[in-house]
Amino acid sequence: DICVLGSLNMDLVINVERIPSIGETILAKDFKKFPGGKGANQAVASARLGSNVVMLGCIGKDDNGCILIDNLKRDNINTRYIKVEEKMPTGIALITVDSKGNNIISVYPGANMAVDLSYVEGLKEVFKNSKIIISQFETPVDATLKAFEFAKKEGKTTILNPAPAKKIDKDLISLSDIIIPNETETELITGINPKDEKDIKRAGEFLIKQGAKYVVITLGERGAAIISKENFVLVNAYKVDAVDTTAAGDSFIGAMASYLSKKDLNFNTLYGAVKFANKVSAITVTKIGAQSSLPYLKEVFERFGE
Ligand code: ADP
Repeated sequence: DICVLGSLNMDLVINVERIPSIGETILAKDFKKFPGGKGANQAVASARLGSNVVMLGCIGKDDNGCILIDNLKRDNINTRYIKVEEKMPTGIALITVDSKGNNIISVYPGANMAVDLSYVEGLKEVFKNSKIIISQFETPVDATLKAFEFAKKEGKTTILNPAPAKKIDKDLISLSDIIIPNETETELITGINPKDEKDIKRAGEFLIKQGAKYVVITLGERGAAIISKENFVLVNAYKVDAVDTTAAGDSFIGAMASYLSKKDLNFNTLYGAVKFANKVSAITVTKIGAQSSLPYLKEVFERFGE
């Protein structure tokens, strides 16, 4: 039902008392590996909510790549079409976290950069068999553009999460049914800080004018806003004790896709999708970690009812 064209990374997390300065060596207290990458996180989010998900992307021929594939399979995600690049390592994020929770992060995209036009050309059947195609900016944008072009010709729904923040080409905007930026991404893309209702609406309309059908701006603890040509609505977040907002956005996007994969896209169904996504990501922020904090459907029902 859903295919995610995006990044697969291994997050290497080192815990230190304090972040070392340049030239300094510090002995760390702990080290752990966690599967990550926005693409893979969003795929896992949707799969845990009961959707059939195909992951599309690229890994290296190495141990990290194997671990990432096994990890996706555990959530019943179809990994058959993931490309294995011989010459590049699997993407990694080196994350150093100090005792106060501050971090410094360096990402090496590695094999994620091998998501190219010829790879996407070979995926037409996969797109034809899906209802929704999701992509982000952690893989090359020309491949996303090509995938969306094909998807729109076939009448599919395209969701663009412009993260990490980068300006979006007009071509890609008009091929996107739903664009979902957070506050920082919204400001970089539109030049408008979505601080109050007026500016949220203005920022959304900026993208609508350039050809997006719908814009959903996620606003952290304020929830999310839906903007279309005719409508504007703010959907409040659920009040929870947030302990770690990592992957809040990824869980939101996975949840939206999961909800919409069973419905036709219009303003009403989008409103339902955003309400559902607010519930799912409210649970995500109450737990530590990225994929470890993404809930299963059962938990969402237990917490918020069906
Ligand atoms: P990102 O993780 O990309 O920065 P946001 O911070 O906008 O994205 O969060 C995405 C969604 O997660 C929000 O729209 C909201 O539904 C939920 N969320 C984030 N922070 C909180 C919070 N403190 N309390 C409740 N829900 C939250």
